[in-house]
Amino acid sequence: MARYSGAVCRLCRREGVKLYLKGERCYTDKCAIDRRAYAPGQHGQGRKKLSEYGLQLREKQKARRVYGILEKQFRSYYEEAARRKGITGENLLQILESRLDNVVYRLGFAASRPEARQLVRHGHFTVNGHRVDIPSYLTKVGDVIAIHPSSQESVKIKVLVEQAENRTVLAWLERDLSAKSGRVMRVPARDEIDIPVAEQMIVELYSR
Ligand code: SF4
Repeated sequence: MARYSGAVCRLCRREGVKLYLKGERCYTDKCAIDRRAYAPGQHGQGRKKLSEYGLQLREKQKARRVYGILEKQFRSYYEEAARRKGITGENLLQILESRLDNVVYRLGFAASRPEARQLVRHGHFTVNGHRVDIPSYLTKVGDVIAIHPSSQESVKIKVLVEQAENRTVLAWLERDLSAKSGRVMRVPARDEIDIPVAEQMIVELYSR
């Protein structure tokens, strides 16, 4: 499937916020958005007043880029969110948070979502004891996500587990570093999803 393969820092600069796509670098003074806090390109420093549609579009693009999702799949998540009971925007974020690559990132086993996606793709994780190499796999409450036994001796994975010790885990997840695993305890509440996105604007965009 086609995927954006350009400079990811441009995406943060376009959205005007840190999307944390480069792992540890995002926390250093090398972060591009700290150095050049304006949109990329020739006209990036010009002032631009966005229409209502433009604002809604930017929120949607921001959410897509945070989770690294293509338009078609993002739209299908929205449709699923609209079918569910409750607030559509919140449902959408909860679906996005339940993706396996996101859960691996949230458990601290990867420095960024793109890294988590690659680790999942390479078959380093299991869900309830079965290897799952699909980053978009939607986890459920009670699922146990673990590093595959055959990956546990890999030097790279050992480093990742060591680094995970320094990363905090959100309350809707539980992590057991000695077992190199984690569990989804519940669906996260909106205030536990620290994504700088106005999800209601995404709903308004798709409801046009
Ligand atoms: Fe975004 Fe990270 Fe690049 Fe900073 S370093 S612009 S947060 S991807």
